[in-house]
This record gives sequence, structure tokens and C-alpha cells, in this order.
Amino acid sequence: MPAEDDVLQQFLDLNATLENIAYKILTSNVANCPETGPSTGLHVHTTYDFPEGMRAEAMTRLSIGPTPFVRHIIPGSPAEKAGLKVGDEILSIAKIDMIEGERSRQFYEVVSRGEWTTGTTSITFKRGEKVDTTQLTPHLSCAYKVHLFFDDKVNAYTDGEEIWVTTELVNTIGAEESLAMIIAHELAHATEGHIFKTPTKEFELEADHLGMKYILAAGYDGQLALAQWTANPLNHKSQTEGTHPVFEERWRALDKALNEFK
Ligand SMILES: [Zn+2]
Repeated sequence: MPAEDDVLQQFLDLNATLENIAYKILTSNVANCPETGPSTGLHVHTTYDFPEGMRAEAMTRLSIGPTPFVRHIIPGSPAEKAGLKVGDEILSIAKIDMIEGERSRQFYEVVSRGEWTTGTTSITFKRGEKVDTTQLTPHLSCAYKVHLFFDDKVNAYTDGEEIWVTTELVNTIGAEESLAMIIAHELAHATEGHIFKTPTKEFELEADHLGMKYILAAGYDGQLALAQWTANPLNHKSQTEGTHPVFEERWRALDKALNEFK
């Protein structure tokens, strides 16, 4: 198998891993999020989502084109309940036909954002040669998107509205609980509006504390998450300067939250 194929498949797999965990956290913490909105668990892509040099490969390998195709369906989500499957081509949403080309996915996002707020929406899709229509009923979620991006550094951050996680982080983090903790930590920075103030050590500790609350709400084993966090050498790096609290302080914040919210 050519290396190009591996990169493609690896990116899709890492993205699916990240999206499944993010979905759990975002849909379980509606009561804790100031910004909420409809969520479907449906993710699409077009050939234009790939770098130019990979488009031909993506087209043949994934059987996609310049219109929206289902890339990932979150298990247990409204999209799964609607019967949509990976590889389906989305033809129209609420009878609005999708467009073809570079702006196709942007158009899809705009249409779906408008339609999904109104409740049940019809989606017409093509599977093989067969065209079919299904009904999709979104449910409420925290309205913070979580994105994966190609980067060889282990990193995650938020701008207060969206959260970004690097491929290297998802690839090396190991356990699901550990990735859940990182997403939840960034979500806490976003829900508390930390990004709009001067960063302090207190914000980091608050994000740890609330992050633990968020993963417990999502049904994760907080004890296991803390054990994995403790065992990760990255968390032991001496951070004596700047805004970063030291390992022991962070551990205490997480442990306190574990007892408080369990
Ligand atoms: Zn932080």
C-alpha cells in the first residue's frame, strides 16, 4: 500500500476518534455550556477538503467527488438513527440542492446550520445508484466545534468558539479518557471565556477542575482518567515559569473535582 494511502486513512481514523469523543462531551454538557445548538453526528467531506496532490487519490480510494459525501457518522447519533452511512452522497437538505466544487462544503454547512435549528429535516442522498430520502432530527449540544489538523507537535487550543487538536496529539495520546480530558480542558477555557482575558495560572486550574466535571458528565471513568494523566510524562515537565501551574497543583485540582463531581 502506497504511503499516500496510509496518510489518508490515518487522518480519517484520527478524525473519527476525535469526533466520537468530542460528541460525547459536547452532548452531555448542555447544562454547562453558555452556547448550545443542534447536533447531528453527521460529518461530510468533498475532494476539495484534501490537498491538491491528494485529490485524485481521495476520489478513487474513498469514492467521493466535488459534492458532500458522508465521511463519518457518530455511533448512536441522530445521523445513525436516520440510516445514513459513510459514503452516501448528500444531494439535498430540506429540498435545497447541494452545489458542486470548491465551495460545496461551505454551502452544505450554511444550509445545514439553517435547517437543523428548525427540528426534523429531510435529507436526500444517493447510495450506489439508489436515491433515497430520510428524516434527520438533531439534538441539543454544546455549540463548540472540535477540529483535527495536521501537525507533528502535540498540541490543543481554543479561540473561545472552536477547539483544535493536532494529529500528533490524537495519534500519541493512547487512552480515550486522556483525549477526553484534553478536549474537556479546552472546552472549559471556552465556556468560561478565558480566552478573552489575560491568561493566569488560576484559569489553567479552573480548566482542569471543570474539565474533570465535563468528562464525568459524559460518563467517563474519572479515576482512570486521572491515573492516566498522572502516568503521562508530558504532564510532569517542570513548568515553573509563566502561567502554567506545576504538576502537583494541577493534580490536586483534578483530584478535588473528581471527588466533588463523581
Ligand atoms: Zn489550558
